[in-house]
Amino acid sequence: MSKTLLLSIVVPCFNEEPCIEAFVRAVDETKLSDLEFLFVNDGSTDGTLRILRKLAEKDSRVHYVSFSRNFGKEAALLAGLRKAQGDLIVTMDADLQDPPSLLPEMVRGIEEEGFDCVATRRMTREGEPPVRSWFARRFYWVMRHLSDVALVDGARDYRMMTRQVVETILSLPEVNRFTKGIYQWVGFDTKWIAFPNVERVAGQTKWSFWKLVRYSLEGILAFSTKPLQVSSILGILCCGFAFLALLFVFVRAFFFGDPVSGWPSLVCIIVFSGGLQLFFIGVLGAYLAKTYSETKHRPLYFIKEEK
Ligand code: UDP
Ligand code: MG
Repeated sequence: MSKTLLLSIVVPCFNEEPCIEAFVRAVDETKLSDLEFLFVNDGSTDGTLRILRKLAEKDSRVHYVSFSRNFGKEAALLAGLRKAQGDLIVTMDADLQDPPSLLPEMVRGIEEEGFDCVATRRMTREGEPPVRSWFARRFYWVMRHLSDVALVDGARDYRMMTRQVVETILSLPEVNRFTKGIYQWVGFDTKWIAFPNVERVAGQTKWSFWKLVRYSLEGILAFSTKPLQVSSILGILCCGFAFLALLFVFVRAFFFGDPVSGWPSLVCIIVFSGGLQLFFIGVLGAYLAKTYSETKHRPLYFIKEEK
């Protein structure tokens, strides 16, 4: 194995003050040489930045980027990938839920086995609320059926890539970045490593249930236009049904007279079709909103300080 390859470790941090030093220690236990740490402080309100300054002061391998506010994990990952100098780049969470002990195996996967990426996924969802697991499974099911990218269930953002793969990812110009989908979409040979779920060492998860729902919707909007087609298909089906119903009503009135009845069902039908129309105007609006935010070309983050 050549010893000259530099490994960049990109770590998005949002209020991870209690985790960062433990993280560096845990990575050092792997005895990997030639590495650089790239922490991205995503607008933390605790002492994260103070710890990063201190670490960078005494350890020349530690670098950081600090945002002007919280821009979200996707933006933090992007900033880290842009700044990374390494030949191999790995992205990991600061809370040690991505075990650094896998790093040597991941490096081997690229250097010796010739893969372009080594990705990880959780074997189990142990320790996660059952409702969340259920919704997570449904999300992967929907994604499999709606979009062209086959997302892997339980895939984490813990992933090592060659510089070539990172350059490819950075060349995508889109503003709405759904990283999990992008990783899958760019292709390249990927080795998957499964590991059991690990609880975070300290601090709290930054994801609420609704944030996850919003994130899932982002994924669907970013990687599928099928919801738009569904509205056309449903529209045609409704028209067909209405036409048949009309025929039925005419024939019945012609042969059996026209007793005035059935207005409650009429109200139901009107409300139903009205609801359906509003729903699909909403779907249309969601894509329009995405297009709008793409055309604004706003930067995804602002850096206030870096080292
Ligand atoms: N994170 C971030 N910005 C955010 C939310 C999270 O940079 O707005 C980072 C966070 O510091 C952590 C990683 O993303 O390193 C994963 O977050 P978390 O552990 O809260 O997510 P979970 O593991 O519960 O899915
Ligand atoms: Mg975590």
